[in-house]
Amino acid sequence: MQALQKVDAAPGLEVREVPPPERPGSGEVLIRVEATGICGTDVHIAEWTPGYEFMAAAMPVTLGHEFAGTVTEVGSDVGAVAKGALVAVRPSVVCGYCPACKAGDADACTNRRGIGVMRNGGFAPLICVPAENCVPVPAGLDPAIAALTEPMTVSAEAVDTGEVREGDRVLVLGPGTIGQGIALFAKAAGASEVVVAGQNDGPRLETLNRLGFDKTVDTAGRTLMDALTPYLKAGKFDVVIEATGVPAVVQPSLEVLRKRGILVICGIHPEPARVDLTRLVREHQQIRGSYRAPIATWSRVLSYLAEHSELVQAMISHRVPLSEALTGFGLARSKSASKVVVLPQV
Ligand SMILES: [Zn+2]
Ligand SMILES: [Zn+2]
Repeated sequence: MQALQKVDAAPGLEVREVPPPERPGSGEVLIRVEATGICGTDVHIAEWTPGYEFMAAAMPVTLGHEFAGTVTEVGSDVGAVAKGALVAVRPSVVCGYCPACKAGDADACTNRRGIGVMRNGGFAPLICVPAENCVPVPAGLDPAIAALTEPMTVSAEAVDTGEVREGDRVLVLGPGTIGQGIALFAKAAGASEVVVAGQNDGPRLETLNRLGFDKTVDTAGRTLMDALTPYLKAGKFDVVIEATGVPAVVQPSLEVLRKRGILVICGIHPEPARVDLTRLVREHQQIRGSYRAPIATWSRVLSYLAEHSELVQAMISHRVPLSEALTGFGLARSKSASKVVVLPQV
């Protein structure tokens, strides 16, 4: 079968012919992959930006950690996962025997192996995964939308971390998939106003408009404070959620946050940010990090996607077959695309 792989510790990816996975063992299922999203992490791995050196031990490895597919074969001891079911797959595979796993805190597993990073992922027609990583997809949901589940759990966790509540005014920095999801979940949490800022980000801000957010600003050529002037008349924001990975936005985002407000950071930053801590102290503000969501968030996000499937379609800007995955990566790298989804069965 064909698979999109990282072959060596250098820039680049290859679509290669690889043997299909073996029959599922105990606790495993074989999945026919229906749709796999291309994420910023995949683009970083393709470009071989620093921070992924640990992957060398797993190469060649098939990328793809945001996917949904149909269970076609089940091994023994797979619990309730049934043949024929459409599932979204949590990419985080835990060991089950380290002290954290034994204590029931699998999230803190010290031997975690990410699907699509340290073991073969979803840019291939078939994949074998642990049954316990499969989350059932509500009936009738488009698999490409189900493939948005993983990034949307990251968005939901950021909103939960910011404790967004009824009536809050929320600023989202970064209009990519994660930022789009944050805007949706902030609104679902009862935010009275959601403003989204990007930089040279016309197409993705338009996607937000289609998702129902008309308060979008492009900061190109001006400061964040200037760009937000019309919205700051009503006061500073209660919660600011950062999804840009740009260290230079951290300090300005604290300056548009109210006293005692919460700044959530969920971008992956290539270098440390400079923060005026004295100002932070006097403003009594909090900075919180947010990353992987707990397992329970997965079914909540899938229910949300099913309930709003018409709307969230707008998040997917391109669908490409596996043979054109590299073209898809080119699109994902440009700011003209929102989510690019690879369809391995086409
Ligand atoms: Zn991702
Ligand atoms: Zn473990």
